[in-house]
Amino acid sequence: MPEIQKSENGGGAKALPSHAKAVIIGGGVVGCSILFHLAKFGWKDTVLLERDELTSGSSWHAAGQIHTISSDPNISRLQGYTIDLYKEIEELSGHSVGLHMTGGFYLASNKTWYDYLKRERSKARYMGLSQEFISPQEVADRHPLIDPKYYIAALWDDQDGDLDPSGATYAFAKAAKVHGAQYFTHTPATKTIQRPDGSWDVHTPRGTINAEHIVNCGGLWAREVGQMQGLNIPVQPMEHHYLLTEKIQAIADAPNRLPCGIDYEANIYFRQERDGLLLGTYEQRGTPWKVDGTPWDFGHELLQPNLEQIADRLEFAFERIPVLGEVGIRQAINGPFTFGPDGNPMIGSVPGMTNYWCAVGVMAGFCQGGGVGLTMAEWMIDGEPSIDVWAMDVARFGDWATPDWGTVKSTENYERRFVMTFPNETLPKGRLQKTTAIYDHLLAKGARMDQSFGLEHALWFANGPEDAHEAPGFERNRSHDYVAREVAAARANVGVIEVANFAKHEFKGPGARAYLDGILAGFVPKPGRVTLTPMLTEKGRLYGDLTVACYGAEHFMLFGSGTMQEAHRRWFMRDLPADVRYRNVSEDWHGLALSGPNSRAVLAELTREDVSAAGFTFRDTKMTYVAGVPVILTRISFSGELGYEIYCKPQYLRRLTEAVELAGADKGLRWYGARALMSMRLEKGWGAWGLDFRPDFTAAEAGLDGFINWNKEFIGKSAALAGKQPAKRLVTLTLELEGIDVSNDEAILHEGAAVGYISSGGFAHHVGRSMAMGYVPAELSAGGQKLEVEILGQMYSAEVQSAPLYDPDGLKMRS
Ligand SMILES: Cc1cc2nc3c(=O)[nH]c(=O)nc-3n(C[C@H](O)[C@H](O)[C@H](O)COP(=O)(O)OP(=O)(O)OC[C@H]3O[C@@H](n4cnc5c(N)ncnc54)[C@H](O)[C@@H]3O)c2cc1C
Repeated sequence: MPEIQKSENGGGAKALPSHAKAVIIGGGVVGCSILFHLAKFGWKDTVLLERDELTSGSSWHAAGQIHTISSDPNISRLQGYTIDLYKEIEELSGHSVGLHMTGGFYLASNKTWYDYLKRERSKARYMGLSQEFISPQEVADRHPLIDPKYYIAALWDDQDGDLDPSGATYAFAKAAKVHGAQYFTHTPATKTIQRPDGSWDVHTPRGTINAEHIVNCGGLWAREVGQMQGLNIPVQPMEHHYLLTEKIQAIADAPNRLPCGIDYEANIYFRQERDGLLLGTYEQRGTPWKVDGTPWDFGHELLQPNLEQIADRLEFAFERIPVLGEVGIRQAINGPFTFGPDGNPMIGSVPGMTNYWCAVGVMAGFCQGGGVGLTMAEWMIDGEPSIDVWAMDVARFGDWATPDWGTVKSTENYERRFVMTFPNETLPKGRLQKTTAIYDHLLAKGARMDQSFGLEHALWFANGPEDAHEAPGFERNRSHDYVAREVAAARANVGVIEVANFAKHEFKGPGARAYLDGILAGFVPKPGRVTLTPMLTEKGRLYGDLTVACYGAEHFMLFGSGTMQEAHRRWFMRDLPADVRYRNVSEDWHGLALSGPNSRAVLAELTREDVSAAGFTFRDTKMTYVAGVPVILTRISFSGELGYEIYCKPQYLRRLTEAVELAGADKGLRWYGARALMSMRLEKGWGAWGLDFRPDFTAAEAGLDGFINWNKEFIGKSAALAGKQPAKRLVTLTLELEGIDVSNDEAILHEGAAVGYISSGGFAHHVGRSMAMGYVPAELSAGGQKLEVEILGQMYSAEVQSAPLYDPDGLKMRS
């Protein structure tokens, strides 16, 4: 039975300070870890408020299992950091965390899960995490209660184990105290009110604290704490079961503690608990708990177990760990914990708010809490985390991520916790949240859709709606040939793609040019022109790869990653001068892009503008009319062809689409989707935001330093100057592959050692080659360099390309 501890400096007599640098609301493992890290890194004047005892949310009844595996490599890194941290906080606080580093395995009972684990192993290789494959017999040797006949292999990880969740939370809090921070129990935050100077008054029954920053670490009450500020956080507590068995004699007699494990197909996790086993499972049909809100009087209570809900999983477990069928169940635990829409935490500075931070939806707090604390402290104190934490950034969701949508997606995510999601898989729940005016039209054309930042967009086009299906998997699937057809049309004639899902940011006002010159590393164009520019952080890391357009002395637009739009809004709003007006206008401008040699002929039929090669040159832009509707017309292309982007207000999109289709009918026009675009940009050697370009890399590492205007001051300039000769570089590779391509995160090897990793890749249809991009040491980045890439456990030869395979001089684009 999980135990509740009592804090030593509970509510008691101690007076609440009137001011703090930061106030953390919530004393679960996440809040306590942030308290520890802030104090350790210098913000000693930080206070944590807990409405009850510490660990009064989900933290006290966690199963306490810890591991490094995560879908995102940087989250894996932070999980490794979290696990390594436990010794430090135990020593510093003198409070036991009850750590057992038993090691653990991930069991593969079929080829698909074996393939998945091979991918994980490949990631671990370049991350320097210690994982190795062991045979089913070795599994049984290390854990004699497991029947090895169900397995074909297992991935062993030394860094797996378990701990006492309550002890770990207290150790964080007490270690924070050692560093000078304070925490107050039985002190609920009842109201959060922002003062005009941006600081916050946090009201409690024991008085009010004024703080420069506040952090919502409300866990089960994250939604309620957010609502104090009108913030609707799309997280959802989910019921979760685990069982504790009676004593198992073989365990009592064993000389060592048994390792812990996860069996994906059976959907169970297990570990030793005292002389028995703890066995947990993620139900096939998840049960959202308290959809309308978590009651404030919910305390250290558990929920009524529903063993029928997990009966199918138990059958698997009894088969694979037969002793489970022989011993009694000592206790069945059903407790709620909070999930986010994609299963990853939601952390960071909340876009649109000042000095309001959150660290919520942390569903594996004992694996991730340390890393979340580290990241939050770096972000709050230094202005940016030391690694790219996009996978956890609260800004990856926008206002479309409503509470209802959050419940649907968080439930889906809970149910899929141990269910395979393939790299090319589209998830079914929460779809059609946002659609454009031509959604049905594209479906009728055979579009296979996915969702990005809440908006549906086409991946590829089949021969009609009935034909628009594909089997997810690691290998190429039936979409391959359809994508080839789209690429062929765009390269030979003309292709059209919907571009509603790109972000558009508008800047107006007398100070707009000077402001953009300061935040963008590249050239800000003159009226009627666009330029490409990186945007850097103070530390010289990439924070954007943007197209900037000028429409007048005081009017500019930035075009960039759709998924980054809230993160960019947050960035732009930080120190926006009074003489600049900024708006995220992404939803005001939908549109189409034309690519291919016949795109000029299509456009010429639809506009009175002179769009001849001389009349509208590469990187020209203007506000004009196409197909009789007002548009922003830009001559630019991500496909490497002669191309145009045509943005219009959403209400004109259907009209524009009909006209483009009509004009293109005799010119070989074909619709294409995101996969064809990604294929075409690969053979041009162009990186993509979120994959090849991310805050993990500098402009020089990513090869974007050529776009920098060194003759001006801009954010990140001194770091960029210092990093002109980077130790690693982004390269484009060709690979010798049949029937499969890289997706991302595969290890790149040289002479048997992991030297880098794949950031993106796929099949380049026009040149007929499998290609990839990835970061390798600079000395291995020259054209012709031979390397290897690990895909599903096999090594394949790869060669660094010195120039784009398609139109290396960019003549087509400029034609
Ligand atoms: C059955 C079960 C098994 C689990 N197993 C594991 C596991 O094996 N490994 C793992 O890593 N994770 C596991 N977890 C998940 C883990 O428990 C959570 O990830 C973790 O507890 C989240 O911590 P938190 O600090 O975000 O939230 P919580 O623990 O919910 O803490 C939030 C705290 O905020 C306080 N609070 C809320 N509102 C206010 C307010 N207005 N004023 C002051 N205080 C406030 C609450 O009282 C509470 O103490 C499990 C969870 C469950 C339920």
